[in-house]
Amino acid sequence: MNTSQPPAATKRIVILGGGFAGVYTARYLEKLLRPEEATITLINRENYWVYQPMLSEVISGSIGLANVVSPIRRLCPRTNLVTREIEEIDLANKVVTVSPGFRPRQLLLHYDYLVIAVGNVTNFYGMPGMLENAMPFKTLADAMVLRNHVIRTLEEAEVEQDAELRRKLLTFVVGGGGFSGVEVIAEINDFVGAVKKNYLRLRNEPHRCVLIHSRNRILPEMAEPLALFAQNTLRKRGVEILLEERLAAATSEKAILKSGVTIPCKTIVCTVPSTLPLVIQDLECAKEAGRLVTNTSLELKDYEGQVWALGDCAVVKTVSGDRAPPTAQHAIREATTAASNIAAAIRGGSQVQFTFEGLGTLASLGHGAAVAQILGVKLSGLMAWFLWRCIYLMKMPGLNRKVRIATDWMLHLLFPPDLAQTKLEPERGIQNQHFQPGDLVFQQGDLGDSVYVIEKGECDVLREEPDGSQKLLATLKTGDYFGEMALLSDQSRNATVRARTAMNVLIIPKGNFDKLRHSVPAFGEIFRELARRRREENVKSERPRDLVEE
Ligand SMILES: Cc1cc2nc3c(=O)[nH]c(=O)nc-3n(C[C@H](O)[C@H](O)[C@H](O)COP(=O)(O)OP(=O)(O)OC[C@H]3O[C@@H](n4cnc5c(N)ncnc54)[C@H](O)[C@@H]3O)c2cc1C
Repeated sequence: MNTSQPPAATKRIVILGGGFAGVYTARYLEKLLRPEEATITLINRENYWVYQPMLSEVISGSIGLANVVSPIRRLCPRTNLVTREIEEIDLANKVVTVSPGFRPRQLLLHYDYLVIAVGNVTNFYGMPGMLENAMPFKTLADAMVLRNHVIRTLEEAEVEQDAELRRKLLTFVVGGGGFSGVEVIAEINDFVGAVKKNYLRLRNEPHRCVLIHSRNRILPEMAEPLALFAQNTLRKRGVEILLEERLAAATSEKAILKSGVTIPCKTIVCTVPSTLPLVIQDLECAKEAGRLVTNTSLELKDYEGQVWALGDCAVVKTVSGDRAPPTAQHAIREATTAASNIAAAIRGGSQVQFTFEGLGTLASLGHGAAVAQILGVKLSGLMAWFLWRCIYLMKMPGLNRKVRIATDWMLHLLFPPDLAQTKLEPERGIQNQHFQPGDLVFQQGDLGDSVYVIEKGECDVLREEPDGSQKLLATLKTGDYFGEMALLSDQSRNATVRARTAMNVLIIPKGNFDKLRHSVPAFGEIFRELARRRREENVKSERPRDLVEE
C-alpha cells in the first residue's frame, strides 16, 4: 500500500467491500479520476474478488477453486488495497477503523468520500442449532468447505455399517429456492450422482437432495413458466422440492422445518435469510428492511455528498420507484452511478440518478439445463444453459480467467468430476452444539472423544441394563459437565446421554481437553474430582440395597 501522504488538494476515497459493487466502483473511479485528483483505497477481507454466479460450480469441481476468483490488485491496479477486516465506521469524524494485522495495532483510515459496499451475510438468528450445523454459501471458503464436506459424507457412507446413519450421510438439504439455493442443490445432486459409481457400496444406494423454499414456487425473481420449468427439471433429476416450508432449527443429526417435519441428514446448506454484516448493523444511520437507505443517486440518507451505499447492503430505488434486486448486474450498474457521482462531487458537477431496470435473469439447473429470461425473451433447457455459460463467461473480467474457466468446462465435459478432497481443516477446536429434546449426545459403548459443558438445558444420563431397559442415573442441568470419565480413563462411554430439553452445549474435544488439563492443573483437578465422585455414586447405585444401608 502507498502510505505517503497525498497532496492537500487530493481527495481521499475509501471503498468498503471488494465484491461486485466495491470492485467495480474502484475500476470506474480509476477511469474517471486522475491520480492527483483522488487516492482510492479499498478495504476487503480477502485480496480477491469472488465471481459468485459461478461459485456453485466449485462444488462439483467443474470450475477450479482459484478460477472463480480474481486478484483485486490486478482488477484495480491504481487502488490501494487493504486486506483486513473493517471494524468500525465513524461517519461523524469520517474515519474507518481496520483490524490489526501481524502487528497488533488497528489502522485508521480517514476519508473525504466513502463507499459502503459490504454485501450481506446469512442470518441464522432465531434458528436454534443452525449456526453450529448449517453452512452458508457466499464465499470461496464456503464453497470449498461444502465440496469437502460432501465428499467426506460419501467416504463415511461407504464404510458405515449402520443403515440409518448411511441414509443421513446421503441426504443433502438446502434452504432457499432463490438463484443460489437452486444452483447449489442442482450441483450437489449432479455431483453425487456422477461420483457415486466410484464407491463400491454406494453405487446402488439412492441419495436424497431436498430444496426447501418458503413461497409457492422457487425462483421468485423469474416469470412463473420458467420457475415451473425449473421445478419440473429438478424434480425429474431426483431433487425433492418442499414449498411453503422453512428451515427452523438444526442439530448434527437433522434439519427441522417450520411445520415440525424433520429430515435426518448430515448436510444442511442455508442461503436465506440475510442480514447486514455486523459492522454495518452497529452503524447509526437510516435502515429499511435491514439495509442502508439511499436516494436515487445512491447517497446514504443524511450523509449526502459524503457517503454512497450500494450492492446487497443497500436499499436502492430506481427513478421508477422500484427496488433494485440484490444481483450482480445491479451491483455493477450501481457502481457506475456511484463512481460518476463521486467524480462529480470532486469536480463540482451534478449527480446522476440510478435508472437501470435489469436486462434479465439466468439460473443454472445443473448440467445441460438452465432457465433464462433476457430482454423479455424466455428460454429453458439446453439452449438456456449454453446461453448461461456464454454470458457469464463473457462477464468474467480478464482474458486469463476466461481461458481458465473455458478450459475447466471443456475438461469437465470429457472427464468425470474430480473426487479428491482438499483437506485443510485444522484439528477440531472447542465448539458449540445444539440438541433437541430426545436427541442422543452419545451412546454407551461409544469412544470417549470429548467433554461437554451444558450452557443451557437439561439432559438425562442413562445406563443400559443387561435386559435392554434403561436406568436413569442422573439429570444434568445448565452449568454441569459430563463425558469426562471415558476421557480420563481412556475407556468407552459407560452411559448414554440424551437431551431432556432443548440443550446448548460446549464441546471440548479430547486433544484440547488434554492440553488444558496438563497446562492448567486446576482445570484437570475439577474433572478428576468430578470423575471420582461419579465413580463412587455409580458403585453405590450398583450395590445391593442392604449393603448401601449398612
Ligand atoms: C451463490 C450465489 C450465486 C449468485 N448468482 C447470481 C447470478 O446468477 N446472477 C446475479 O446477478 N447475481 C447472483 N448472485 C448475487 C450477487 O452475487 C450479489 O448480488 C453481488 O455479489 C452483490 O455484490 P456486493 O458487492 O454488494 O456484495 P458481495 O459480492 O457480497 O461483496 C461484499 C464484500 O465485502 C466484504 N466485507 C464484508 N464485510 C466486511 C468487513 N467487515 N471487513 C472486510 N470486508 C468485508 C466481503 O468479504 C465481500 O468481499 C449470487 C450470489 C450468490 C451468493
